[in-house]
Amino acid sequence: MLTLALSKGRIFEETLPLLAAAGIRVTEDPEKSRKLILPTNRDDVRVVLVRATDVPTYVQYGGADLGVAGKDVLLEHGGEGLYQPLDLNIAKCRMSVAVRDDFDYASAVKQGSRIRVATKYTEVARQHFADKGVHVDLIKLYGSMELAPLTGLADAIVDLVSTGSTLKANHLVEVERIMDISSRLVVNQAALKLKRDLLRPLIDTFAAAIPA
Ligand code: ATP
Ligand code: MG
Repeated sequence: MLTLALSKGRIFEETLPLLAAAGIRVTEDPEKSRKLILPTNRDDVRVVLVRATDVPTYVQYGGADLGVAGKDVLLEHGGEGLYQPLDLNIAKCRMSVAVRDDFDYASAVKQGSRIRVATKYTEVARQHFADKGVHVDLIKLYGSMELAPLTGLADAIVDLVSTGSTLKANHLVEVERIMDISSRLVVNQAALKLKRDLLRPLIDTFAAAIPA
């Protein structure tokens, strides 16, 4: 039996075509069902639904044999115990710094004064500002980062951006792009050896089906 960890939403939706290429169909709709374990048309493959940030943890400890996780999530997790054979080129976006549209970011960064940055991605943010030689006070948040500069909680946020419409709706502007983000296939290292006959063909089929 192979257990695949996915998060609901864009990662689930964008993984479906890759599964289809391997002849795997998830036979229940996670948006309609309350089940957390979803069967597929194959008796030897099932999908477990977990929070996006929990995918690496499930795969690391063998709660799932493989999973799909964003580079953002993998960088924060650290990737320990995970084999990462493929960049699937799905759930694409970028990690950026954003501030209120009336905030002078260039001056704030240049003056060498401390800036306050709110983010879910404290590891990436810490590294980014360290590389720039900017003193930063990091404030860990778990969601609705856009609110932080509007309420005075922080000067800037580090968050994922795709179209920029959420930033715009909240009078924020993207002032720096830190990195491009996409989702990767992660595999439990023990499973790779013990379930090689099931996993290897799946990884090869995914590799051939990655969107351009
Ligand atoms: P939740 O929304 O349940 O709090 P989450 O925000 O971590 O959890 P998603 O919003 O579904 O979950 O994001 C899952 C993954 O999809 C992220 O880790 C990231 O890699 C990617 N992602 C997030 N936002 C975008 C976006 N706007 N466009 C494309 N991909 C994105
Ligand atoms: Mg989200």
